[in-house]
Amino acid sequence: MSDNSSTLINRRSFLSSAATVAVSSAAASSLVVPAQAATPIVGTQTPLIYRRKLGNYEITVLGDGYVDLPHQIWANVTPEQADGHLADAFQPAGSIRNGVNAYLINTGEKLILVDSGARDLFGPNAGLLPDNLAAIGVKPEDIDQVLITHIHPDHIAGMYSADGDVLMTNGQIYVDEADLNFWTSEAAQAQAVDISKPWFDLARQWKGVFEGRITTFKGEKDLGDGISAFPLPGHTPGHTGYRIESGGETLYIIGDAVISAAIQFANPDAAAIWDTNAEDGKKSRRTIYDVAAQERALVTATHLPFPSFGYVDKRGNGSYAWVPEEWRYAT
Ligand SMILES: [Zn+2]
Repeated sequence: MSDNSSTLINRRSFLSSAATVAVSSAAASSLVVPAQAATPIVGTQTPLIYRRKLGNYEITVLGDGYVDLPHQIWANVTPEQADGHLADAFQPAGSIRNGVNAYLINTGEKLILVDSGARDLFGPNAGLLPDNLAAIGVKPEDIDQVLITHIHPDHIAGMYSADGDVLMTNGQIYVDEADLNFWTSEAAQAQAVDISKPWFDLARQWKGVFEGRITTFKGEKDLGDGISAFPLPGHTPGHTGYRIESGGETLYIIGDAVISAAIQFANPDAAAIWDTNAEDGKKSRRTIYDVAAQERALVTATHLPFPSFGYVDKRGNGSYAWVPEEWRYAT
């Protein structure tokens, strides 16, 4: 029998068996009985881990969980406008659900962590970084270096426990000098909006816990390993982005330059009440959006929806669109 005829026969038998199945299903539908072994609904996700190669490096996104933020966090967006953006993004009204991500860069020689999650400070749905590190078999003490985008609780608190036990026990911690100066300043704390006043106390505690291991830089800084810091001020005075380059590929980790995909691409001027300089923040956001759009560069940010990799598309009327990268089957 030739291959062709074999294919033909298989196709015929497939068609006839398909017809049989159709008849059988119709007959069987009257015989449906309840399942005997109900399976409980799980209600939780798998560990928030996503790997992506970047040239010769491997970046692992480590989800820390999420926090729901009400529309009152916006300084210059009404709740109605915020709900309009959420409707455009097919999301429920009333608040934004903000993922919290950290990033582990494996250069092949070193493990470099960017930010560290919120620990217990952002409610019951965040603080998963230690669990997700454990899930990929990395011990906190294996981390060789930590890069901080800015000194907010959801970026620094995961480096130590509420009792002051240090988790990331090794290596240098890099942060912009302006952020460290600001968040440890009593004068700045006195003038800050109420919601961010406790963040100064945390910053001072963090500085004390990691005394001797914190290395500061000012603005642009080459940190080696294809990684450079660049200033994105406004969300905080020393807010920093990190450009990672390996094997001809580039990734921009832009911290909290954008905190809501649904709102701040459509409206890049949307500022949060805790932005220390909203005007600088808008400029920084537009600048990095323009760079990313022009270079067609890969971008990620702490609060963009997990796994948080994507591209920025420039649209008309001064607005932008977030184009999430499709799931990479081969990292
Ligand atoms: Zn944040």
